[in-house]
Amino acid sequence: MSTLHVTGGCVYTADEEHRVHPDGGILARDGRIVAVGPSAEVAAAAQGLPEVETIDARGMMVMPGFVNAHWHDLAAVRFGPRGTLRPVSDRGDAAVFMALGGDLTQISMAFDAFTGLIDRLTWDEALAIARYSLLTQLRTGVTTLGDVGSVNRPQALATAARQLGMRCAVSTWAADGVCDPGGPGFKRTRDTDEVLREAEDLLRECAGAGDGLVRALPSIVYGVNMSDELAAGMGELVRRFDVPFATHVGALRHEGAVTRACFGAKPVERFARAGLLSSRFMAVHCAFLDDDERRLLLDAGAHISHSPAKYGATGESALSETRAIPELRRAGLTVSVSTDGGPLLVPGMVEEMRFAWSAYNEMFADPTEVRASDALAMGTRLPAEGLGWADDVGSLQAGHLADLVMVRADDWRYLLTSRPLEAFLAMGSSADVDTVVAGGRVLVRDGRPVHADDAEIRAGYLDALTSFSARCLGAEPGAVARALSR
Ligand SMILES: [Zn+2]
Repeated sequence: MSTLHVTGGCVYTADEEHRVHPDGGILARDGRIVAVGPSAEVAAAAQGLPEVETIDARGMMVMPGFVNAHWHDLAAVRFGPRGTLRPVSDRGDAAVFMALGGDLTQISMAFDAFTGLIDRLTWDEALAIARYSLLTQLRTGVTTLGDVGSVNRPQALATAARQLGMRCAVSTWAADGVCDPGGPGFKRTRDTDEVLREAEDLLRECAGAGDGLVRALPSIVYGVNMSDELAAGMGELVRRFDVPFATHVGALRHEGAVTRACFGAKPVERFARAGLLSSRFMAVHCAFLDDDERRLLLDAGAHISHSPAKYGATGESALSETRAIPELRRAGLTVSVSTDGGPLLVPGMVEEMRFAWSAYNEMFADPTEVRASDALAMGTRLPAEGLGWADDVGSLQAGHLADLVMVRADDWRYLLTSRPLEAFLAMGSSADVDTVVAGGRVLVRDGRPVHADDAEIRAGYLDALTSFSARCLGAEPGAVARALSR
């Protein structure tokens, strides 16, 4: 039986009472926490146990492993639009795509095109890209990931997660058409039954996995890429397999009008009609709603995952334009933060928690609207609830898996503060993550992976990206080579 003893840290449990142990410890046996509390008490519990691995956490904060419930592996399209070939100067940028309320036709076309790209990834490319992507999450403190559709294969993400030792709820890229309200409305581009078959195969595979690291998270990419038949079929699968379901909904200002024009119904209403609206419905972004849609979400007890630190860079206005997300939170819905994804790296969980902490308080002129401890819960326990994984991860308590993030809190930024979490959210970043533990196993130490070779994963990714970009994205080899040499 392996035993891990963390001692002398400032332990933020993120449990329901938001308990903090300023000189705290954690004892884990065989991957699960058996004691958490003041260091002296935990040390007494550890006494006499054989082969104890001890981490001296003096000068550090200890938090639950971050749970990023809404993420996409888009590292395969780094040489696509909005990727690495943009000019170094931002002066020629225009407000396009998701900006100014969203160009839904262009967005649904872009999302539809991803299906063909996923099919053209070789297995070796898919796995190399997945390993790189997952490592960027792991090293920033994420121990549990929710994939809400990726330009990658779920099997590659699952394999990479197992190799790295982190948890991942994987998904298929479920979309069966495009929306063009100026043209013929909704146009089907894929066989719906085939899309559903892929989702069902994945659900079966994951149900049989049983290793604690990989689960299935059925999702539909976006309502503007979804026929009513796809929604109904997914509703049936979600009920049959009794799993959570995630989708982007109410994400953009123009989504409601386009959805009504193409489908004759409101975005949230369409999911409700398909029987998908329940307490296991994870609504991503979810800001542009009318009163009926708000009521539907409240009555269902849906979960909202949003990515406040990411909206500005893409020209989205999901936080402050309608205030729906903070208002639904006030009305009782569980709201968590997540990173979302992009061709280039997006802000990490630390940045998302920081933004929620500062932006909500600014919106309501009240520093207790979202306390630092609330922000931490929004990145740990609450998203674990959204993923249906909260019995195992998301807070530090006896019986839970020992998934931990440790951050040094003893430099100039923390001088004389009684609240290291506030100092961390104010001046810290994802790059400050020092140690990551999952299931009692140290996976990252001094910011570097312990069991995986950082340089090899990076080199493997760049090789895969070079071949895939030239073959499938039409990237000019000279431009790729110049970018890689930068
Ligand atoms: Zn997303």
